[in-house]
This record gives sequence, structure tokens and C-alpha cells, in this order.
Amino acid sequence: MFYLLKVLIERQIHTLDRPFSYACLTELNPKKGERVIVSFNKKQTIGFIIDDPELIQQDIKEFNKGKTFETLFIDKLIDNSPVLTDEMFELADKVAKYYHSTLISIYKTMLPPSLKPASSFKNKPKEAFVKMITFKKDDDGSLSKLELKALNKIKEKGSVKFTGFGMKKTVAVLLAKGFIEIVDVKVNRLAEYEKKEYVEKKLSEEQLNAYNTIVSKDKKVFLLEGVTGSGKTEVFFKLTEYYRSIGKGVLILEPEIALTSRLVTIFKSKFKDDVAVIHSGETAANLYDEHLRIASGKANIVIGARSAIFAPVNNLGLIILDEEHVGSYKQENEPYFHARTVAIMRSEMLGAKLVLASATPSLETKARAEKKVYEQLYLTKRFTGYALPKVEIIDMANIKNLDTDSIIISIPLRKAIAETIAKNKQAILFINRRGYAPVYSCRKCGKIFKCPNCDVPLTYHKEDNKIKCHHCDYELSAADLKCENCGSEVFSNTGFGTERIVDEVRRLFPMARIARLDSDIASRKKEFNMTLFGFENHDYDILIGTQMIAKGHDFKDVELAVSLMADKSLSIPNYKANEDTFDLLTQLIGRAGRFSNNGKAIIQTYMPENEIINFSANQDYEQFYKFEMHNRKVFQYPPYTFLAIITISGTDSDELETFCYKVKGYLTAELKNARVNIYGPSFPYIKKVNNRYYRKLMLKYKSHQEVEQVFNNLFNLEGKDIKISLDIDPVSDC
Ligand code: ADP
Ligand code: ZN
Ligand code: ZN
Repeated sequence: MFYLLKVLIERQIHTLDRPFSYACLTELNPKKGERVIVSFNKKQTIGFIIDDPELIQQDIKEFNKGKTFETLFIDKLIDNSPVLTDEMFELADKVAKYYHSTLISIYKTMLPPSLKPASSFKNKPKEAFVKMITFKKDDDGSLSKLELKALNKIKEKGSVKFTGFGMKKTVAVLLAKGFIEIVDVKVNRLAEYEKKEYVEKKLSEEQLNAYNTIVSKDKKVFLLEGVTGSGKTEVFFKLTEYYRSIGKGVLILEPEIALTSRLVTIFKSKFKDDVAVIHSGETAANLYDEHLRIASGKANIVIGARSAIFAPVNNLGLIILDEEHVGSYKQENEPYFHARTVAIMRSEMLGAKLVLASATPSLETKARAEKKVYEQLYLTKRFTGYALPKVEIIDMANIKNLDTDSIIISIPLRKAIAETIAKNKQAILFINRRGYAPVYSCRKCGKIFKCPNCDVPLTYHKEDNKIKCHHCDYELSAADLKCENCGSEVFSNTGFGTERIVDEVRRLFPMARIARLDSDIASRKKEFNMTLFGFENHDYDILIGTQMIAKGHDFKDVELAVSLMADKSLSIPNYKANEDTFDLLTQLIGRAGRFSNNGKAIIQTYMPENEIINFSANQDYEQFYKFEMHNRKVFQYPPYTFLAIITISGTDSDELETFCYKVKGYLTAELKNARVNIYGPSFPYIKKVNNRYYRKLMLKYKSHQEVEQVFNNLFNLEGKDIKISLDIDPVSDC
């Protein structure tokens, strides 16, 4: 007698993404949803039991008699209770079917790192630590007034949490002089968020209307369109209160980690340990604990980023997707899911309500609301009461605006920065490129340095005097570089990145305190936090950075927000370029004067007449929506069609080319009766990465059903060297 198990093994390959049979001793009592270790092709592999075990009355020898494949016993049963529930299985099936992704990749996404198959061999997650500032020695007369004040505060308490303590610059000085220490302290992992008290507010008429409609209407999906500062969070809060009072779970998603922490603070102050947090910024230990608390029903309000949409919340009654339009809700590798699409599936499956919230909804969502598929709700009034910033569009092609002293800072901009600093206010300068200069070339023969792996120009980074590829980790020291063509050792820098803007602004404003934020700095967590806190604290006058400075932040002294080269993001060959630019500029403008009536934004561009730039300058979403929907219709892009991108890669460029035509031939023949257009093969934005060549095919189609079977069979064409990936509803087609 034994149990026959259906096991899905950990191989992220479409052809192996199906159950294999294994046997298990009856006394182990295996259950659906538990993990096992099995031998597959003589190698130990982790797998999931994906169906209820079947009790076989024979013994294994008898059972295997005459069969072509011998059923083996599993090597080990890892869990003693399921890590995946029936609800998770059902959701994974739906998601895999829609995205044509492997089931195993979805199970992996659903679980915290320490429960993912690959890490299960190692078991136990690590303990969590928190950084604490501790007192070391008393003032020896060398400290300033401010430093002494900070030191006394620390001494008084013995130790304080680093993240919760202000005065970061002062702390840095005290640390450098040896008056304090920063130590890692093991913590009770769960209650680690600062205590900020939530103040109960009476909902406005608009808020109350939104709340009542969501709670009482039969419709399942709602679009809550509310300008920034209109109190969307307050509505989320009251909704959460309601659904908890009727015993239902609540899931709230934010597109970025930084935005979750704001919500967590407010929600924890009221709902305490009923709140769990899930996002990739948390430690593996925390994620593991939170997963268990959610699954066991100890925490019923989950706040998190993209993957949290899969959190095993019990009796889920409400899902909220804040800033639903943001692209980071889409995962850009296998499984290529969009949290919004999964949210729709999950709410349908459970009959839960779904609230999509945004000041600038995605065209897809807005179009569905206009068609009454979703119920539309508006919040139009701002609680903050301050006027929107004045926006000035500067024509960089007009010589009148150009400063002889700088090619990137125009005369009106220079003046505006000077005025801002003179008033002791702050400015943020946005440019969507990190490094010093995006093109590095030989001054003698003009040869441009390119990445040998990816075939894209290398960016010069002054910080470490290197030229680097932004797509792989290729880099060269610029110190002893010689041109391969002509042997010259003189090079030139073309274009602007964040580092170069810092130099430029420093040259023009030598007295200003300047900080920089981009992903180079974000990779050094301490420096990133120091910079962000420092700027919030007004230790700096000017912040220069990439999109990470444009979104979400609530800098109270910022009165000037600047886009240095607005055209850059409009010229990206992506069908969403207009939408992304509108969102980015609208957000950026929204950073200025959040707490004053003197906010000002400056947009430097070579296209001052451009509609998108003007719509965002006027913060006019409705006009933007009409304009862009017209474009999408003319060019037959979503929401008028569905889009899929098939990326095909291989190490041999010629073989790949031939193969792509084979795939196209297959699609054309199989889809001859479907409403579909097939484009390509063409070069993706990045043609070559790490010595693999890439090509893509794009499909626009009218019905998922018509293409479903053909997409499923696509992966059977994959060869040893040739890989196919399929991205349904891509957020970029370049
Ligand atoms: P949003 O998320 O829509 O940008 P928030 O929820 O952050 O806006 O609200 C903006 C500000 O308005 C906050 O400071 C909040 O405390 C305040 N606020 C929200 N609702 C109310 C209310 N009903 N009465 C008073 N103040 C409110
Ligand atoms: Zn040269
Ligand atoms: Zn590269």
C-alpha cells in the first residue's frame, strides 16, 4: 500500500511543467500543497504535490509491473502542512493560463524566499536585525550645540533606532568622531514599525460617497480617480475598518516599497498586529514570519508591493491597488504577470471587491470605467488647499533662452534656481540618465566605446572613473584607456547624466548644497537613506536625480521642480511613451509647493508645442486621455487590441534569424483565421545581452481565445540553444 503523488518539479521549462508520478509511504501522510524532494533524471529536485494523494492498495513492485516508466518513491517529504492552499492552486492555474507561464514559476512567486523550492534544501531563514544607535562616550568639548543635543538624546535613552532618528547628518558626525556606535540588534521581528498615531477624520461628502458605493454596490471593480491630496488613503482606511468588522481580509498594494512604509505606519497605529507587510525590501526572515502570520489568519490586513497580490490572506473581501497605472506592477520576467490583472482574477474568483485608485488612471482602466465595466468614483477636492504649481515650458531651441555659460541650464532655469535658494527653499532636478555622460568616444577618430556583450554605448561614470554598460556588468577603467582604432588617449564625453548635472550645477551655484539620487546610490543603502533623509531635513538645497526623485515624496521645502530634458522619455520607441511621460511630468510637477502657494515647475524641451508636455503642464488628465486614446485607436494599440511580445534568443545570430522566420511561419499558418497582425522579427531595444542575441515578434490581436492554443504550443519549438519567452500585455513594446 502506498500513496501515489502528482508532483510538479522545479524546472522552469515549459515542456517539463506538468505533473510526474511519485510514490510515498502511507505513514508519512502527504498532503496536497506540501513540498517533496524527489529524484528526477538521477538528480535531487524539489517539487510540489499538486493534487490529493491517491491511495494505492498494491505494493509498488506490483504497481510498476509492465509499465514503461517506473514510479519511484520520493526521497523526502519537506513539510508537515501545506505551503500552498487550494485557493492558491486555483489562482495559479488561472494566472498560468492567461500568461502562458509555467506553474512552477507562479508557485515560486507566491511563496516567501525561504519557502521557494530552490532554497528549501537550506531550510531555516536567518534572524532579523535592526540598526540601533548606541551611546559610547560623553562630550569632550569638541561638539557643536546641535551635536551635543543629539548626543544627550541618545544618552538619555541608551539606544535609539537608526531609521527612526532624525538629524542624520549630525549622527554621521558623531559616528565619525566616535561618540556613538551603530550596532545590529536582534529584534522581535514583527512589531518593527515606528509608532505614529492615526488621527480619526470625518469623511467628506465625496469620500463618504465613494466609501458607501464600494461597500454597498453589487459591482466588483471600482475606479477611484482622485487628484493627489484628495484623501484616497482615508477612504482605504475606512474601507479596511469596515471589511475587518465583518470578518474579511484586506489586501492593499502600492507600486513601490517607499510608498508602502507610509501606509504601514498609519495602518499599524490602528490595526496593530493585524497588519502584515510583504515586499522585497524586507528580510527573508521577516517575509517568512509574515507569510505564516497571514496564512494562519493571525494577520488579516496585508500591505505590500507587486508580488503581495498572491499573499494567502484568509477570507479576502477587499483588494486595493493604489497608483494602479504604475508600470512596476508588471513583472518583466517569468512569470510576466501584472498585479492588476491578477487582482481582477482573484476578486472574481472570490467575489471580493477591487478598488483601483489613481490620479492618472491607465488608459486600459479608464476605458473600462467609461464603458461601465468598472464603477467610476471621483475625489476632486484637495484637503491640502494649496494652489497647483505654476509651470513654465522653456524652449531649448530658442537662443534667447540659452546661457552662454551652460548648455543644459537655461537662463530662466538658472534664475529660478537662484531665487529658490535665496528664499531658503529647495529644488529638485530630474534627468532620466545616471552616470556622467552617456556617450564616450575617441576625440581623434570618433570611435564610440560600446559594450562587447550588448552592443550599446558605454556610459562614463566619473565617480569611479570607469565606463560602464547599463545592461550587463561590463566595465572598463578609463584611467589607462587607449583607442583600439588609432591609439589615441584623448576622449570626449557627450550628453548628460546625473553626475555631470551635479558638476554643472555646482559650477554655477558654488554655495549651494547639492545631493544626488539615482540607482547607483540606491545600491548603497546607507548612502541612499542618508541622502533622502538629509534632503527631507533640508541639509541640502538641490537634489539631482532620476525618476526615483519624481514620485511620491512629500518634501516640504521644495518649491521648484525641474525636468531638464523632457524630450528624452517621449522619444523612447515604446507605445506607452506618451502615457509614461505624462505620468512622470505630472508627478514631478506635483512635487513642487506641496506645502505652499509658491510652487513652480520648469520643463526644458526642444518641443515646447508637444501636446503631452502641455497636458501635464496643465495637469489635465481628461484632455490627455482623449488625445492618447485617439492615438491608440489609429495605431491599433491597447486598449483597442491586445499585445503580445515573443522574445527569441540564441547564441548564434544567423541561426536565430532563421529560427525567427520559422516561428513567424508557424504563427501565420496557425492563426490564419484569427483577428491578428504579426510584426517582425525585429531587433528589440537591446539586441544583445551577455553574448546572447535577441529578436522579437509582436502580435496585436482581438481575442485571447483565438490565440490561446497557438501560444501554448509555441514553446514546443524551443531548441537546445534557442529560448522563447512570451510577454502578454507588455508595458513596453521596444
Ligand atoms: P491622497 O492619497 O489622495 O494623495 P491623502 O490620503 O494623503 O491623499 O490625504 C491628503 C491629506 O488630507 C492628508 O494630510 C490627510 O490627513 C488629509 N485628509 C484626508 N481626508 C480628510 C478628511 N476627511 N478630513 C480632513 N483631512 C483629511
Ligand atoms: Zn580613435
Ligand atoms: Zn553590456
